[in-house]
Amino acid sequence: MSELIIAKDLCKTFSNNSVQQHVLKNLNLEIHKGEFLVIMGNSGSGKSTLLYSLSGMDRITLGKIIYDGTEIQNYSDAKLCVFRGKNTGFVFQQNFLNDTLTVLDNVMVCGLLTHKNRKKLVQKVKTLLLHVGIKEEDFNKFPSQLSGGQKQRVAVVRGIINEPQVLFADEPTGALNSDNTEKLLDILTDMNEKGQTIVMVTHSVEAARRGDRVMYLEDGIIKDTIELGKYSKREKSVNKKLNHFLEEMGW
Ligand code: ADP
Ligand code: MG
Repeated sequence: MSELIIAKDLCKTFSNNSVQQHVLKNLNLEIHKGEFLVIMGNSGSGKSTLLYSLSGMDRITLGKIIYDGTEIQNYSDAKLCVFRGKNTGFVFQQNFLNDTLTVLDNVMVCGLLTHKNRKKLVQKVKTLLLHVGIKEEDFNKFPSQLSGGQKQRVAVVRGIINEPQVLFADEPTGALNSDNTEKLLDILTDMNEKGQTIVMVTHSVEAARRGDRVMYLEDGIIKDTIELGKYSKREKSVNKKLNHFLEEMGW
């Protein structure tokens, strides 16, 4: 597999009242095209900071981030913003949908960034919404009228509407019940099987099982990683392997 994202000697330091906190410490990592990478680790280990850094949502302090051969860390704010919109999608634990827009418009406003033909975009948005189980009768509802699981599925559609090179997800099932968790994981797994590169942070072992590779972050460094292979082609013993790995990590 070829590399889509390379992070070299990534450092991220926050300064609070002249106290410096080194959150990511010389982190090196490669994300392959088509990979489903899962990042686990205790609260405060730097998982969200890593996703924000890799996606260009937050500026890194030192190091390089290379997408498909192009370094992005020195892009101007404007250039980075456009790059992010076109190349990355993001799903958060709290869906962050715009409460003043309908389901359809929440995705449309994002999609208009790369789609010139509005009519075709509407069609594409509707197809994707249906695909994740949002019914036509809900397209014109507002987020407050949907369940948590439905909202998160709309957020996933918004995340992929511009066909990003990579979809980042920060604890996307963290606020969902087990039924909705399963549904969302099935959607992500299906997308990945069709080629979508996904980088997902999770606290859930159930969710981690969906990854091809699980990386364990501790105090801003990668403690270890484990290869699991594609979810659909897997033997049962892989579950044990993951449990053992997490036990060793002190999970
Ligand atoms: P995780 O997602 O693994 O729980 P985070 O990446 O959110 O961890 O946070 C790692 C550390 O960085 C925490 O100690 C947190 O307080 C600190 N941190 C994160 N974001 C900021 C910020 N914007 N300003 C200052 N400190 C931050
Ligand atoms: Mg976090």
